[in-house]
Amino acid sequence: MKFLLIFSLCILGVLAKHEIYEGHAVYEVEVNSIDQGKLVHDVEDNLFLDVWSDAVPGRPGQVLVPKVQREVFEHFLNEAGVQYKVQVENVREQLELEDQLLAEAAAKSNSSSSRLGFDKIHTFAEVDAYLDQLARQYPNVVTVVLGGRSIEGRPIRYLRISTTNFQDARKPVVFMQSLIHCREWVTLPATLYAIHKLVIDVTESDLVRDIDWIILPVANPDGYVFTHSNDRYWRKNRRLNFGGTVCAGVDLNRNFDMNWGTASSTNPCSDTFHGTGPFSEPETAVTRNIIQAHRNRLALFLDIHSFGSMILYGFGDGSLPSNALQVNLVGVQMAQAIDRVKWPQNRNYIVGNIMNVLYAASGGASDYGQLFAPYSYTYELPAWRNNSWLQGFLVDPEFIEQAGFETWEGIKVGARRAAAAFRQRNAVERK
Ligand SMILES: [Zn+2]
Repeated sequence: MKFLLIFSLCILGVLAKHEIYEGHAVYEVEVNSIDQGKLVHDVEDNLFLDVWSDAVPGRPGQVLVPKVQREVFEHFLNEAGVQYKVQVENVREQLELEDQLLAEAAAKSNSSSSRLGFDKIHTFAEVDAYLDQLARQYPNVVTVVLGGRSIEGRPIRYLRISTTNFQDARKPVVFMQSLIHCREWVTLPATLYAIHKLVIDVTESDLVRDIDWIILPVANPDGYVFTHSNDRYWRKNRRLNFGGTVCAGVDLNRNFDMNWGTASSTNPCSDTFHGTGPFSEPETAVTRNIIQAHRNRLALFLDIHSFGSMILYGFGDGSLPSNALQVNLVGVQMAQAIDRVKWPQNRNYIVGNIMNVLYAASGGASDYGQLFAPYSYTYELPAWRNNSWLQGFLVDPEFIEQAGFETWEGIKVGARRAAAAFRQRNAVERK
């Protein structure tokens, strides 16, 4: 009886959590010209809507609209003659469905503290404890490093994986991170899978022998905890901009020192608020410090996001790095490797410059990475069964392992190509 009561209270707690999304809708917006796209963009900005993707001619955009703003948003679209469809009438129902599916999968999970399974989405505490466990179990290759602490004081810890304890300066470094945008849950399996294949189930030994790895699974721990406890669609960190929870958070992927503040929001209430200055946030400082500490041999940086099935490279203002041709080529090779093993119903990856493929953005992590590493990318993993228009950020439990597996196929190609380029450059310099 007592168990039943606790169980019911848990269910009620879960239901209450998603109450804030009661009546929220997802709109698909279609524009027929660049100008119309700009018009829609401005209105979405003014209403502080959560834009999941910008509408451009030929590719509809998606935007989450709170119940109280639906009328005014639809009025604008009708007045401006913009085509639209309501894709999800009540977002809360979708969130409850995700909870239910993930809970069912977790109930059957074979995870243990020494092996995190790919049948559930692990919490911050589980991931953090797992890093220690790995360091204890594999002391010759794994070190846990405390990079810093989040706004709320949580440890931001990453793994160093190396057969030479990072002492061999001739080895290239590959650095990857996930969950800087904390609602993009499906990105966590990608970094956990990489750890699994580099430490526990090593089937391609050249990857550990020839490369030093840094893997930061939860780059935004406060936000990630918040997406589990309060708001599934939270994107930013948990900076209290006005001292309270109203308009909290900084978009960490607009907070890096690369064109900072040129294509992001000055308004703390916006989902793309860039903060009070470059690296104003402790979370982005951790990533910066890792990049800086290894800049001499950083061959590849990967910032894992979702959704959209894309591999994007700098810069967010549309300008290109000097080695853009190689960056594009390696991007295509990574995408092809993923496409070879992806689920058939998911679309092929798109590869290109951030602004050309997605939208203009400043202060991004992979843009900053490109300043110091020859190869730097943002991955956008696929949405739920590729229904990007329906449930972009939600996780299909059946896709968790596949997300890890297929993304690793791309990462391996990128790591090997970047490592080869690094060795070639070193050989030339020694001549
Ligand atoms: Zn993201």
